[in-house]
Amino acid sequence: MDAPLIEIKDISFEYEETKALDNISMKVEKGDFLAILGPNGSGKSTLLKIMLGLIKPSKGSIKLFGVDSKNFKHREWIGYVSQKSNSFNSGFPATVKEVVAGGLAKKAGLFRRLPKTVDEDVLEAMKSVGMEAFLDRSISELSGGQQQRVFIARALVAKPKMLILDEPTVGIDHQNVQAFYDMLAALNREKNITLVMVTHDVDTVTDRISHVACLNQTIHFHGFKEQFQTLSDEERASWYGHSVRK
Ligand code: ADP
Ligand code: MG
Repeated sequence: MDAPLIEIKDISFEYEETKALDNISMKVEKGDFLAILGPNGSGKSTLLKIMLGLIKPSKGSIKLFGVDSKNFKHREWIGYVSQKSNSFNSGFPATVKEVVAGGLAKKAGLFRRLPKTVDEDVLEAMKSVGMEAFLDRSISELSGGQQQRVFIARALVAKPKMLILDEPTVGIDHQNVQAFYDMLAALNREKNITLVMVTHDVDTVTDRISHVACLNQTIHFHGFKEQFQTLSDEERASWYGHSVRK
């Protein structure tokens, strides 16, 4: 049995006076498609940043791929698409191809030449998100949903084993959200990419995900979506701050 890809135990985090997370424990196993739900301000983005090592908890421990995060050497295994990635102002000068190839810059070294295979890797990443026809377009001409897909391709081009996504459907037209989640579910199933995603679209995602975690500074529920679906509407609503349509 493989070690969990992420295992956090008794994590707390404070910003100055604000207690953002209080004694959180959870696991992400290989192959999971985990949705993290919770009201605004409940610490969802903070939790993702802790998983990524961008901020350090005031207490608790984090293991990544079975290794204490302090000794973990493979940050490129974990891709990240932050909140509000899809908000390029019109006139931003980069093409889609350049944005996606930028996902390799750290690996290749900023001032070194990118490897010869870049075009193939960029094309493959763009195919995975259904955007291969847009390589030469300017990023700022694309819709919010298309930009979000490009940012997922930018994370995929470094060939991560898992992706962490923070509210990826914000700014996507309602009628395109289903197709967006289908694309993520295909990455999970067909490319074996473990997914951790903060979202508010609970009605739309439950068909696609495998697990749910409800965060309200502490975790109130972390389990299979089937267990989550048997909870009462009231419990769910009080935990993640939204009501659920039946
Ligand atoms: P969520 O993503 O669930 O909306 P966040 O993790 O962004 O929540 O924030 C959790 C809490 O920490 C909130 O009360 C928020 O106002 C506070 N917070 C977030 N970022 C900062 C920051 N950089 N400085 C101070 N407080 C912050
Ligand atoms: Mg957030």
